[in-house]
Amino acid sequence: MKEANLWEDARGRLEIAAKQTSLEPLLHARLAEPDRVVEMSLSIQMDDGRIKEFPAFRVQHSNIRGPYKGGLRYHPRVDMDEAKALAFWMTMKCAIADIPFGGGKGGIAVNPKELSAGELERLTREFTRKLAPVIGSDKDVPAPDVNTNAKIMDWIRDEYEQITHTNAPGVVTGKSLEHGGSEGRTEATGLGGALVLSSILKTLGRDPRGMTVAIQGFGNVGSYLARYLKKMGCVIVALSDSKGGLYIPRGITDLDAIEECKERSGRLAGCYCVGSVCDLSNMESLGGKDIQPEDTLTLPVDIVVPAALEGAITKENAHKIQASIVLEMANGPTTSEADEILSQRGVTVIPDVLANSGGVAVSYFEWLQNKSDEHWKVERVYEALQEKMETAAAKVAEVAASRNCSLRDAAYIIALERIVQKYS
Ligand code: NAD
Repeated sequence: MKEANLWEDARGRLEIAAKQTSLEPLLHARLAEPDRVVEMSLSIQMDDGRIKEFPAFRVQHSNIRGPYKGGLRYHPRVDMDEAKALAFWMTMKCAIADIPFGGGKGGIAVNPKELSAGELERLTREFTRKLAPVIGSDKDVPAPDVNTNAKIMDWIRDEYEQITHTNAPGVVTGKSLEHGGSEGRTEATGLGGALVLSSILKTLGRDPRGMTVAIQGFGNVGSYLARYLKKMGCVIVALSDSKGGLYIPRGITDLDAIEECKERSGRLAGCYCVGSVCDLSNMESLGGKDIQPEDTLTLPVDIVVPAALEGAITKENAHKIQASIVLEMANGPTTSEADEILSQRGVTVIPDVLANSGGVAVSYFEWLQNKSDEHWKVERVYEALQEKMETAAAKVAEVAASRNCSLRDAAYIIALERIVQKYS
């Protein structure tokens, strides 16, 4: 899905926002480069005795508004330019959600599915050893991203505490509940996306009930989002993962059964579920058909949701999008060229820096709980998340209306204005 250089694309976005806000040149220059990049090579012993090396990165983009904050991604395609762009978007996202964090991102170029549990743990602990001097609860706070999870965050906390001889629950967020995690963190990004969509639909005078949705990516973000959108009355008609997907125009009803089927078979394709029986033989009775991952975005639906990786919507497929709304749950799923095409075609794009900020919002609540040694009930987390998402969405919609600009432009204007406030 990757095309042009993501970092160049992100910097292009900064250029536009800088002009719109008459950003002071020195601050502009500082935001146009990350504060720091840390490049590592991680050597570990594999189960068969071989020594293998994995490139790894941490980018600290800006801490003007607070400690660097952002996920760690384990994926063969992780590289420095991707990490720089993702770190920059985190700086913007935290400012839009009005969270006192800056932006960071990192990861390891590895396919974790090819590692044993022991190899994954050794790799994560080695990564932590090399990251330890630059992370910390008031310095830089990593979190999960693609292919990383609570278990990996628990290992990082544990290794970091051993190295520094401290109790440091706030060094990472997205931990398991037993190791200082927050209620509601796992589902936070999906839930946050549903709350943002609901707020924006209100401003457009549209009712979510009956709106059809196609979601590309059925991991943490896509699977929870599907559930919350269904609760709002949307009809989920298509889902896909990296290996394929399904399209059922009359609606996908049993998301739990589909999730179990995906876990069992390792793929979403073919998970046509009737009751607890999920297989291809149900395809016809459900009126469904198989789709390729990239087809998900161009189906005749009301809302499309890229929730996989960046660069999903490009100048090649932007013309083919039939939906009137794109809810960007992945980071950077739309290239600048594609964004321009969508804008000209009157498609409402709810930008990633707003749509997927629920995860970092609850990460912030986790960090606050760790700092004060508290444990919030899930209701309190949901309430605080709802407040954050609705306030952020309303502000973005208000600025877009008053400046007659896109939601993305409005989001970046708000972010830069908030950074300026802290900078001066
Ligand atoms: P995940 O690893 O849990 O899931 C990713 C999903 O995308 C998987 O189902 C995978 O099969 C699918 N996928 C990969 N390539 C695909 C393709 N070409 N077509 C269709 N599906 C494909 O990751 P996640 O945590 O759900 O993250 C998804 C996106 O959301 C990423 O861009 C991530 O940066 C962003 N994001 C995640 C969080 C979070 O809290 N997890 C927060 C903000 C943003």
